[in-house]
Amino acid sequence: MTPQPDVVVIGAGAAGLMCALTAGYAGRRVLVLDHANKAGKKILMSGGGRCNFTNLSTTPANFFSANPAFCISALKRYRPEHFVELVERHAIEFVEKTPGQLFCAESAKDIVAMLLTECDWAGVEIRLKTSVESLERYGEGMCLHTSRGRIEAGAVVIATGGLSIPTMGATGFGYDIARQFGLEVTETRAALAPFTLTSSWKARVADLAGVACDIAVSCRDGRYREPMLFTHRGLSGPGMLQISSYWQPGDELEIDLLPDGEAFDALAAARRETPKRKLSTWLSERLPKRLAQSLGEWYGEDPLLAELSNARLGEWQARLNQWRIKPAGTEGWRTAEVTMGGVDTRAISSKTFEVHGLPPLRFIGEVLDVTGELGGYNFQWAWASGVACGQAL
Ligand code: FAD
Repeated sequence: MTPQPDVVVIGAGAAGLMCALTAGYAGRRVLVLDHANKAGKKILMSGGGRCNFTNLSTTPANFFSANPAFCISALKRYRPEHFVELVERHAIEFVEKTPGQLFCAESAKDIVAMLLTECDWAGVEIRLKTSVESLERYGEGMCLHTSRGRIEAGAVVIATGGLSIPTMGATGFGYDIARQFGLEVTETRAALAPFTLTSSWKARVADLAGVACDIAVSCRDGRYREPMLFTHRGLSGPGMLQISSYWQPGDELEIDLLPDGEAFDALAAARRETPKRKLSTWLSERLPKRLAQSLGEWYGEDPLLAELSNARLGEWQARLNQWRIKPAGTEGWRTAEVTMGGVDTRAISSKTFEVHGLPPLRFIGEVLDVTGELGGYNFQWAWASGVACGQAL
């Protein structure tokens, strides 16, 4: 008969594998269960297949949570450099794209292979295609009923992630378990998701699909200076994904299409120096050509610069520096990279990740109400919370 594990980790994703290998190296008998047919599916699809596995400038300020101090301890104990050391030990080549953002040079498969190798070395057993039907307190530990039978364990770690990309195995399982044991779950919503537009705007931007430009975007307390991409359905690109974490239904976005300066001053100078130029020519030197043309069409004018009164310059300044647009919504769970909200961390120890008053039950990774910005922060949270919990088991 196989001995009962000390620890069962539910979820063979980033946080679960990291926790499992850490506890395994500490001498615990660890069993990882996942209902998917492969471990680390989200890692494989992350960063466009190259996995943006960390960000060297990670600080707690890069995370959203109703309890912002919760992430500090784990992030301080396991830093981006620690994960980079692990990656280097496995001779995985990586590149720094935008400052601080580290991606695999070849493929995200390298990260999954590294984690599985480490789990193997640490004596961790991984059982895929296994679903957990129920979980209950059993003596000092926990008892699980799975599609492959009953398992008793000293501790159970819930590492089942958030709700994004259900086709990759995402479920609300972790939230259901939290509620079963009396924990609160803060409101969840899709974040780091592209925006969809109302039909009138969708028709106007349809010809721009594939056009990217450098913008600044703001909504509520958020402001990002990152590229935007027009799509067939709306607006995407890093700037839009970032601001979606602040956006609430009904909000407008304010997009600065010329974030390097005030359009009024630049247009007034151009009117003085080149009065016979068309506005569209001036715009096309500062914006992608297709967008410059569309702007004239949207607002039904393409005057000579000399024809622009100061009042009209003011109107163009607003269109260019404060383009206000109300999205119809976001693409939702189908394409969102993360879940905003989750298991309320006020019920969890930030040192051990155990539930206060119920030490055999622990929660780590994205299932918790800790959500990173775009740029490798979400994986850094998965690694850091996994290690902190694994060390404490
Ligand atoms: P997950 O990695 O989601 O793992 C959860 C595991 O639990 C899965 O294997 C799932 O099958 C399993 N599971 C769920 N329910 C059950 C159940 N009931 N029973 C058994 N098993 C279950 N972050 C970055 O930092 N950088 C990036 O480049 C990046 N790119 C991304 C790209 C995409 C398209 C997406 C969707 C996300 C991306 N993210 C990125 C976010 C990142 O993938 C997640 O934040 C991270 O994977 C969370 O780790 P986790 O271990 O908590 O959850």
